[in-house]
Amino acid sequence: MFGIYKKIIFTIFITTFSLIFERSYSQNNPSEFIVVLDAGHGGHDSGNTGNGFLEKKIALQTSIQIGNYIKNNSNIKVIYTRSKDRFVKLSERASIANRSDADLFISIHCDAFTSPKVYGAGTFVLGLHRNEDNLRIAQKENSVIFLEENYRSNYEGFDPNNPESVISLVLMQETYLEQSIEAANTIQKSFVKNLARKDRTVKQAGFQVLRETYMPSVLVELGFLTNKKEGAYLNSKAGQKEMSETIAKGIINYRNKLFSSVFIEKKRLTEFEQTQKIEIKNNKKYSDIVFKIQLLATSKSKSIRKSNFKNLNNISKSKEGKIYKYYYGSVKTYNEAKKLKNKAKKLGFKDSFIVAFKNEKKINISRVIDNNN
Ligand SMILES: [Zn+2]
Repeated sequence: MFGIYKKIIFTIFITTFSLIFERSYSQNNPSEFIVVLDAGHGGHDSGNTGNGFLEKKIALQTSIQIGNYIKNNSNIKVIYTRSKDRFVKLSERASIANRSDADLFISIHCDAFTSPKVYGAGTFVLGLHRNEDNLRIAQKENSVIFLEENYRSNYEGFDPNNPESVISLVLMQETYLEQSIEAANTIQKSFVKNLARKDRTVKQAGFQVLRETYMPSVLVELGFLTNKKEGAYLNSKAGQKEMSETIAKGIINYRNKLFSSVFIEKKRLTEFEQTQKIEIKNNKKYSDIVFKIQLLATSKSKSIRKSNFKNLNNISKSKEGKIYKYYYGSVKTYNEAKKLKNKAKKLGFKDSFIVAFKNEKKINISRVIDNNN
């Protein structure tokens, strides 16, 4: 006899650095980072044709080369919205990115202006344009909607020519704004550092193509075709090689920074969770404690619908720092939680574990006392 209670100690929180790293790595495997490259315009939409240069052609050639560089120099997965000269609706471009559950969306364009003197590369994220110039660029890129059939029903009365229409955009992208700005900054810095390009800095404007994506999204204006020298540069082999390598390096840097910040944040949060410790009895019902199963912790925000979680019901989500955590179930006893955890593991959520919340705050279970007999 070993006493009335058999005591089993579960160390359910990870305490060693190596294990934290393993979890972080498996849930955010760098090979799973997906970038969608969106060459603007195409087909019967040439984009701007300053000095006889074709925006659609330069955007496509540059996008393909960005993708090639990324594939040759990293394990990032590349998806194109178009890889040849064809017309793709703005809404379809966003859908391609959403369907592939991408981590980053980059739309590539060339700018044009009435004065041939204006030049320089610029990067944009979705937001309310701060000035006339940003509104002008957004209107220019959005106006391709008129080339689409059914644009009225596809874009809910959105009128690219009406400034109010742009201003009243519901900022679906707001969730990703911080990360979008970070990605845009990394690319913009890459331009300035590697190519000594004129720094037109990161700006916000109401781009329709960035409005419907569910991930950090950036629009790059490579430069002005209406400026003879810049147009010729962007149209040249050497220019496209330089620009594409620079953007590709920016994307790879962004991915690396993101993964290291997710890793640091995870470690910090795990340390925080260690500070409040309580003992839990296996079968006791607590009035103020609920148990949930943490399925995933990732930098990606996704909808909590069943189909995203192997048909598991009762999924909840919380945001901690830059990390989204997804939980399954909400039960009153540790025993019930164990059953849910086993179910989740069987379905493939191998890293899932039980988390306890007291008054909606996460607490650390120091040990579980088996009081079955
Ligand atoms: Zn364009």
